[in-house]
Amino acid sequence: MLKQVCKGCGEEKPMSEFYKSRKGDKSYPLKECKKCYGQKVKEWKALHPERVKEHRKAEVRREKKVLTPEEKWNRALRGFKF
Ligand SMILES: [Zn+2]
Repeated sequence: MLKQVCKGCGEEKPMSEFYKSRKGDKSYPLKECKKCYGQKVKEWKALHPERVKEHRKAEVRREKKVLTPEEKWNRALRGFKF
């Protein structure tokens, strides 16, 4: 079985313990195991709560297709005929 040494904890783990990132039609395993990557994400989220909020808002908007006030205004303006 293929194994890789994690850059985070230094442990040798099977490839199933690593997330993969896609580039085109190829996928590459990340340098850190799922556990270390999860920890990194957690730390990043703790350091950037406003970015997390923004991201979540954008996701909800995409899901519900809710327009921001700006988008509503743009849409309304497009409806006008000069
Ligand atoms: Zn690790």
